[in-house]
Parts: sequence; structure tokens; C-alpha cells
Amino acid sequence: MSSYSGRHRTPTRAERRATTGRRRLPKAFGAGYALPTAAAATLVVTAGGATAAQSTALASGTAVSAFTAPAAQHSEALADPALAERSKGEVAQTVAGYTDLAQRRQESSQSVAEGQGRAQERQRVARDKKRKELAAQKREAAKQRAAEKKAAAKELGVSTEDVTVDAAGTPAVADGAWVLPLTNPVFTSGFGPRWGRMHAGDDFGVPIGTPLRAMSNGEVVFAGQQSGYGTMVDIRYSDGTISRYGHMSSLQVTVGQKVSAGEQVGLSGNSGRSTGPHLHLEIHPGGGEPVAPRSWLAAKGLTY
Ligand SMILES: [Zn+2]
Repeated sequence: MSSYSGRHRTPTRAERRATTGRRRLPKAFGAGYALPTAAAATLVVTAGGATAAQSTALASGTAVSAFTAPAAQHSEALADPALAERSKGEVAQTVAGYTDLAQRRQESSQSVAEGQGRAQERQRVARDKKRKELAAQKREAAKQRAAEKKAAAKELGVSTEDVTVDAAGTPAVADGAWVLPLTNPVFTSGFGPRWGRMHAGDDFGVPIGTPLRAMSNGEVVFAGQQSGYGTMVDIRYSDGTISRYGHMSSLQVTVGQKVSAGEQVGLSGNSGRSTGPHLHLEIHPGGGEPVAPRSWLAAKGLTY
């Protein structure tokens, strides 16, 4: 006896045998199952001995010998040798049937497992497909955004990194960036003396009604009519520079209004002393005297 004496001590061999002995008979041998009479009789007689067979894998050949041996042993108790012979045959048949059933059960559980395996594989493939589709959609969306940014950058006359695209996909000039007032400006006349007087800015030929944008983040300091300039807007930017747009056809901002880079402030026109539709642009660094816009804007990376 081992020194282990707790409630869960290892069962003794006798106890193990007793437990095994109380094992239930397989269903096929239960009350609800019809068995050939002689076989049933034999099985009743050999019930004790049959446990050996039940604890053995019934699908194997040993099961048959385990059954037939006690049957043969007890057949001595049956007076009629013919009946004994028939009984042996019936037991063999029953066991064969049971073996077949066990095999079919095994095959069925195998095919269930295979079916589950296939279902899992199908699910995995579907998941993979969905993941790939989502990734492709994401790539496509990113490509689309990049293309939109590039187009917007071209439109705004700025580099791509100076363009932001909001959630709705609307492009805008990044905070603090600088843009030209016009898309595709056509330079027509420059800063300097002209017709005996000082021309304080650059002129761009442009059809009436073309949108004009704020060049950077700033505040409207003048919006209205001015002699010679016609409809005019002055914007002071964060660095103190003031830009002036003259000869406009309409204004879309008022004095004191904050504007962001690229924001539309009005439309071009032919108002004031003008010989044709154009934008007159002046640059006043620090709000002081005007300078040649072209070189000042070139320093901001903006050319025309
Ligand atoms: Zn001009």
C-alpha cells in the first residue's frame, strides 16, 4: 500500500476491476434492441465475460474472439449441440453487425470532422478575401486622395505638401502656406514706371468673374471702392505683409474678416481706371511701400 492516504488515493487493482465490471453494456445489447433469441440467451449467460470484449476496441478482430470464446465456453451448458452451434453463429453475426456499426460511426465522425475542417477553411478564405478587398479599397482611396491633392496643388499653384484635403475631400491650402491669387495667371504688365507714373504692382489678364483667393492666412483690412483701383480688397497676412487686389467686379469679404490661405475673397473685373479685364496685384511688405510682386512671390516659391 502506498503512503498516499488522501481521499483521492490511487484505486487498488480490485477497485479498478470492480469499476470496470460495472460498466454499462453497449446500447446494441440493451433492452430496446432486438437480438436473435439464442444470441441474447448466450449474451445473458456470458454477461460477466463480455466485459472483456466491451473494454476492447470492438472494431478490431479481437472483439470477435473475445465474444466467441465465452460463448463457446458456455455452450457446454446448452444441451443441444445444434442450438449451441447456431447460437455461436448468431453471436458472431451480432458482433459483426456491431463492428460494422462502430466502423460506420467512426467514418461518420471522421466525415463530420472533415466537414468542419472544410467549413473552417471556407471561412478563412472568405476572411482573407474580405481583408484583401478592404486593403485594395484603402489603397484606391489613398491613390484618389493623392491625385486630388496633386490636382488641387496645380490648381492653387502650390506644392503638394501645401495642400490639405478635409474629410469631405475638399482641398485647401495648408495653414501658413502661400498661394497666388489666381489659377494659371497670365502676366501682362509689370511693376515700375509706366506712362510717366509709377505702376505699383503686376497685372494679370483674366476674364471678368474669375475667383480671387487670399494668398495666405490673414485679415481683410480694406474692402470697397478706391479711386483708380475700382473695387478693391486689401488683406494683411500673419507676417504683416499687405496684398492689394484692384479692378475687381465683386467682393465676398468685409473689413475685419479673417481669411485663410486660398479662401475666395471676390471676383476679378474691369472696374476703376482699367483698359481691360485684369487683376492688379500689389505687395506691401510690413504694410509699407509696394515692392515688385514677382521677386517677392518667387521667394515664397510662387512663380508666374
Ligand atoms: Zn496694374
